[in-house]
Amino acid sequence: MRTPPLPPWKPVYLTAGRLAALAGLMLLLAPSDLGIEELRHPARDPRVAVAAPAPSVKRAIPVGAGPLAPKPSSKLSRVARLASKLRAHPRPAVRRKQPQRATRLALLEHAGLLERLGSEAEIAGVRHRAFRLRKAGLPIFNRRGRIHDGTLAGSSGHLSFPPLASQEARITRDEAVRRAIALTSMRRLWAGVKSERGWFATEDATVPAWQVTLPTEHPFGLWQATLDGRTGEPLALVDLARHLDGTGLVHDPNPVLAPTPSLVTLFDLDDSFRLSGKFTTVLDDRSVEAFQPDLEFVYPTDDPRFVQTSVYRGLTDTGRFAEAHGFPAFSEPLLAFTNVAISESGDELNDAVFVPGFNFFLFGNGDGVLTTNIGKDLDVAAHEMGHYIFNVLVDPVVVSSTDLVLAIEEGVADTLAALLGGDANIAESVIPGEDFLRTLANDRVFPRDLADDPHETGLIFGGFNWDLVQLLGADGFADILIAGLPFLPPDAFLGEY
Ligand SMILES: [Zn+2]
Repeated sequence: MRTPPLPPWKPVYLTAGRLAALAGLMLLLAPSDLGIEELRHPARDPRVAVAAPAPSVKRAIPVGAGPLAPKPSSKLSRVARLASKLRAHPRPAVRRKQPQRATRLALLEHAGLLERLGSEAEIAGVRHRAFRLRKAGLPIFNRRGRIHDGTLAGSSGHLSFPPLASQEARITRDEAVRRAIALTSMRRLWAGVKSERGWFATEDATVPAWQVTLPTEHPFGLWQATLDGRTGEPLALVDLARHLDGTGLVHDPNPVLAPTPSLVTLFDLDDSFRLSGKFTTVLDDRSVEAFQPDLEFVYPTDDPRFVQTSVYRGLTDTGRFAEAHGFPAFSEPLLAFTNVAISESGDELNDAVFVPGFNFFLFGNGDGVLTTNIGKDLDVAAHEMGHYIFNVLVDPVVVSSTDLVLAIEEGVADTLAALLGGDANIAESVIPGEDFLRTLANDRVFPRDLADDPHETGLIFGGFNWDLVQLLGADGFADILIAGLPFLPPDAFLGEY
């Protein structure tokens, strides 16, 4: 491994201003180019020895590193000679700060130690650009920083790293890709595999590494595996796609309890810039669908995209809650149609529906008389996702609307609505003139309160669940519910719940 070529240094252009910048470069190189460990034992790297202005550093001893370690650079030595020469002839202080830091940046780049990434983004009048450090001609995957308006930011802690490991990478590119695929157990790719050789800073050494990026389709993801280049052992694994969280404006939890909408996090968005992610993809056949490359889904409350945002949030938060309490990971998003009208008449749908087997959701707007705010009320989305969760865990056999298992399912769906919404009342904003659609704070008992409508009978079970939530807490109850439901027979009756 050879040292990357350095551009020629032209001493004739070394003015007083540039010299000050040079001193800055040396200061910067000390914490950034070298690792923390090396700094605790100074004078082990010739460049520190000659460059650092600290008088305690006197002698240079070459680092006895392996083939990937860079050789001392003659160019840098020449710079150092110039620096000491000019130290002997001190000049008046020069203007500091901004120009100096900008020149530091130029020098770092000049020396091939800093690599700009992506493209520049201008936010609130400041230009931002990401960069990563390079060492011996290869990038250090986990040492990055930012450039703001042409000057370095965050150039301390994040830019230091332990000494380079002495062993060279032995794993080939193909082997690295093969191992990364095995790690993610991925089934299909939606784009090509990317692989790159570089370094990875661990706690005590900066080791040769491969970084492999796999765009996986089932389940959807953008997996980035970092492997030790010497052994092929995994160093880090992360799904980049899952980490896209956006912001949405919603009534939290509904337009009655929170008439003024507020900003909430929209979790687990994919990289489509639409309301689509790990748990659900929201579709609207009657109006424009939300599309936000900045992932800020902020719309007026009467905009159909406000409903789309609310539904995405409700279904996603319920899915996340279930996963957090033991529900198996969602493997693909469920389709959710908002703004649904009755196809023959074109009238607004006064309902929200989960369709088992096909596993999609429909959210009407309500006609404003019988129902309203269906898509805007967190309880409704949580209830519908509760149906999906129950169907996965129980797979109920239903032949009649009075089958008890259907009522148990409604009770569980209402319980999830209560847990997500934070109170026993279900869908407070949905029935004009009413305080709520249903409430789990009830004293319904079996068999006195059996009804033809499974939602009504479900209140017996929902009420029972809510009593348990008071005893066990929301998290404790949710753990038991999700662990216990798979034991429920598909045609369960009361004693079995
Ligand atoms: Zn229901």
